[in-house]
Amino acid sequence: MNEHQYGLGDRGPAVAEIRAKLVQLGVLLAPELPDDPADALFDEATDQAVRHFQQQRGLTANGLVDRMTYLTLDEARWRLGDRLLSYQAGHLLAGDDVLALQRRLLELGFNLRRVDGVYGPGTERAVREFQRSVGVPADGSCGPATFKSLTRLSPKVTGGRADSLRDAERVHEAGPRLPGKIVVIDPGHGDADRGCCSNGLCEADVAFDLASRIEGRLAATGVRVFLTRGRDSCPDDVSRARFANETDADVVVSLHVDEHPNEIASGVATYYYGTAADPLRSSSLGERFAGLVQREIVARTDLVDCRTHPKTWELLRYTRMPAVRVELGYVSNHGDALRIADPGFRDVVAEAIVVAIQRVYLPPDMDAPTGVLKLGELIR
Ligand SMILES: [Zn+2]
Repeated sequence: MNEHQYGLGDRGPAVAEIRAKLVQLGVLLAPELPDDPADALFDEATDQAVRHFQQQRGLTANGLVDRMTYLTLDEARWRLGDRLLSYQAGHLLAGDDVLALQRRLLELGFNLRRVDGVYGPGTERAVREFQRSVGVPADGSCGPATFKSLTRLSPKVTGGRADSLRDAERVHEAGPRLPGKIVVIDPGHGDADRGCCSNGLCEADVAFDLASRIEGRLAATGVRVFLTRGRDSCPDDVSRARFANETDADVVVSLHVDEHPNEIASGVATYYYGTAADPLRSSSLGERFAGLVQREIVARTDLVDCRTHPKTWELLRYTRMPAVRVELGYVSNHGDALRIADPGFRDVVAEAIVVAIQRVYLPPDMDAPTGVLKLGELIR
């Protein structure tokens, strides 16, 4: 990560803007005197406010305003009704107003795969359905008349999560057989972006090698596999997500390794779309898939179990299918690095991930205990 970011001690107009946004969101107290843009300071209070905001939003809570945190801050200012909302294929509208709209549509019982704050084709479809049902011109965009009808109606679906029921139904319909399913494997980083490098290992290479091992195993079971990048390219995460959507993949697995200034940090963690503070926003199938991946890896290796966590990273958010990101150990940790460098270990992990993909589709009565299902036993 070489992109520009702002943190404790920085000064200037960009800091003034960040502070103004935090004040507007109510996570930072307004200064007694307005910030002088040239001299605005990223002080301790700003740092605390940023961390609080990041935690609420499922971002890494490090107090640094990087591109992702900045975009999320920017999206957070919109309230439903502030602006006209519509689907724009080239540039998807995103914001808290879209999030509120999606929640409202779900409450009213309309079909939406995901509550992600992005005005995509699914949201447009649900808006059209809604407009038809209330007799507003069904143009798929949200203007004053639609906002008014949205706030007038009372919820049909209370308690429970309509979206998670629909996700479960989709999986059931897909059936347990692997042939014909489409899986996108996303090796993190690439090209000039080497990712985390330590102990003679570079993340970009590890991820690509592991992706190839998974690809081979999946292809052998009849799954159509696509990689989001070649050995020497590095699309950004939004492009990778768009690619997965265009292939109409069933699931997406993103592969990374981690590093930490403290070499003691070690272990494997798996991430899915969502925020801890807002369970409605989480992808329930993504969460389940992450749990399966994490358990299979932990059962087959001696990596420390750093569990599964919701995150709002772009790849997880913009993909329309269940997507997980695996951080397979720390290259900065001597023991983890030794394991990751071993081709035999990478094979075991590849097998664990393939089995986790199969398990997503196994009905409970056909499912074997974690760690025992072998590749030869997969349903073809
Ligand atoms: Zn990475």
